[in-house]
Amino acid sequence: MIFEREITVNPFFEPVSESGIPAFDRIEFEHYREAFEKGFAEHDSEIKAIVDNPEPPTFLNTLEALERSGHQLKRVATVFFNLTSSDTTDELQSLELEIVPAYTAHHSRITSNAALFSRIRAVVEGEETLQAEQLQLLNETDKSFVRAGAKLSDNERHRVNDIGEELAGLVTVFGQNVLKDTNEYELVLENGEDLLGLPDFVLNAAMAEAEAKEKPGKYVFTISRSSITPFLQYAEKRELREEIYNAYTQCGANSTDNHAIIQKIVRLRAERARLLGFDTHGDYMLDDRMAKTPAAVTDLLDRVWKPCQKKVEEEAEDLQNMIQAEGGNFELEPWDWWYYTEKVRKARFDLDEELLKPYFKLENVCDGAFEVARRLYGISFRRRDDLPVYHPDVVAYEAIEADGSLIGYFLFDFYMRQSKRGGAWMSTFRDQSNLGDSIKPVIINCCNFPKSDPCLLGMEEVRTLFHEFGHGLHGLLSDVRYESLSGTNVKQDFVELPSQIMEHWAVEPEVLKSYARHIDSDKPIPDDLIEKIKATETFNQGFATTEYLAACYLDLAWHGADGESAEDVKDFEASAMEKIEKIRIVDPRYKSSYFQHIFTGDHYSAGYYVYMWAEVLDADGYEAFKENGLFDEATARSFRENILEKGGTVDPMTLYKTFRGREPAVEPLLNNRGLSS
Ligand SMILES: [Zn+2]
Repeated sequence: MIFEREITVNPFFEPVSESGIPAFDRIEFEHYREAFEKGFAEHDSEIKAIVDNPEPPTFLNTLEALERSGHQLKRVATVFFNLTSSDTTDELQSLELEIVPAYTAHHSRITSNAALFSRIRAVVEGEETLQAEQLQLLNETDKSFVRAGAKLSDNERHRVNDIGEELAGLVTVFGQNVLKDTNEYELVLENGEDLLGLPDFVLNAAMAEAEAKEKPGKYVFTISRSSITPFLQYAEKRELREEIYNAYTQCGANSTDNHAIIQKIVRLRAERARLLGFDTHGDYMLDDRMAKTPAAVTDLLDRVWKPCQKKVEEEAEDLQNMIQAEGGNFELEPWDWWYYTEKVRKARFDLDEELLKPYFKLENVCDGAFEVARRLYGISFRRRDDLPVYHPDVVAYEAIEADGSLIGYFLFDFYMRQSKRGGAWMSTFRDQSNLGDSIKPVIINCCNFPKSDPCLLGMEEVRTLFHEFGHGLHGLLSDVRYESLSGTNVKQDFVELPSQIMEHWAVEPEVLKSYARHIDSDKPIPDDLIEKIKATETFNQGFATTEYLAACYLDLAWHGADGESAEDVKDFEASAMEKIEKIRIVDPRYKSSYFQHIFTGDHYSAGYYVYMWAEVLDADGYEAFKENGLFDEATARSFRENILEKGGTVDPMTLYKTFRGREPAVEPLLNNRGLSS
């Protein structure tokens, strides 16, 4: 008798598919742990081979060998970390708690490998003639080792590693707490006066949410931004606005306690910075960015803060006047802001978001973004339903060069769901590189649009789609040799340039006319609506800039000299806001307990400012297109060749100056926000 046993092969151990898209159709939960274990082991032996190489250290046998190592680990890690963000499960979440510290420890072992570091130093100090991109890889690798503590004594380095591991655990719990509080809170409403003011599209989304949460026939609002924002904009009942707003600002400190976690995170970061020779965590983080110092950042923030405070006070006065005019006898509070802003917007511009939405069907907006890319760079996107995706809502495209050659693959994951964290982001399943084979990138854009058919977007969501698509292009059009320097692997305050500049095209009249077509009549958006959109661009910018900058200052405060001695999170927040004399009724865009940018990872810590830093670049950079033509071939080619293709192979200020011919000016930003005096 022959027993046949079905052998299931771990898809992570099979050859990479031709497209480079992971085998989502066959990856099961059981495969991850095994693939991580194999990945760690393989990477360890690859590192050992580099260290044990009897030949003297060279760029090729050390740096390039390092660049080639860890392939198996990267393969599983990209899938795992993408899915824990975009389609997580309880199983994945608990495995994440186990994998994250192991993963961090694995990388710490590499950066604290003294023999490996001494080989890198030998190449740094050696006489080898290197090409510019090789030199950049060498310097960046050396810097990453030094920043991880490679120059420290054993004891100090162990402490830095321990801190890294502890932080990795803490930031994971921080993010999970925010997700938990976000999923737990529901404002359940039934028919009647509670629903007054809410337009159909808001009610439909709330009904769908109720359906999903098994509360058919009711209306469920949550504190995810796409649910709470329209509620605050339209809900007439003031108590309900107050209730949901307070729930939102309590996120992470509601059923969970992120306050205690924040204090631990901040103290550990400060201790690590000191060990590494920096005064504060802010100094440590800024040392590896385009801005270089917290002082340079504060200088930029201050230049924008004063005019925006003036503007937000005028806006608050307008809102208070609107309250009075309606016979309201109360003082404007934070939860009133959106509601009365919407009324002033209507009165002043006669522009109702609801009137706009039929022009922004998701598929049309998507085509609009693709069309902008085609007109700028000659590239096109073709839908590929035959490729595997990790969730039925994800749509796969291939990106094609004007001459028909393949650029790479682009996955679009549009809709909100419980298994996805909030916000919108771009990520990669595979980075572009030309080391040996020409490796095509696999890029993903995630958004959180409420799912409905048709899915009609608001202006902010339209901008979000173009923004993430801009990151996508940065990943797709990358043309470098080394993966570590490819695509969006650039300085953190430079990475938002390609994304934010795309937002400008989204609202150009010429572009709007081509993609913003009415869902029923297919007629392009009329001129009067476009004029209104343009007229509203600087509207409420005092508020938007204030809430954003306040969060930037809060971030810098946590990671400056005083952060680690904070006794109480709320008191610290209040005193940081007092120092900048913030207007009372505008809260920072995120309060500490749900400030995920800065507390769910090191990456954006002391770095929330990066959007504004990059806005200086994108506003000034877009001026070049306005000067030469929105789709001017030479300008577009220069942007592609000098910015998008180069990744992190060249210092960002050099790249920018090559594109623009000079350093960026801050005035276009102030103009765009209506803040110039
Ligand atoms: Zn971005």
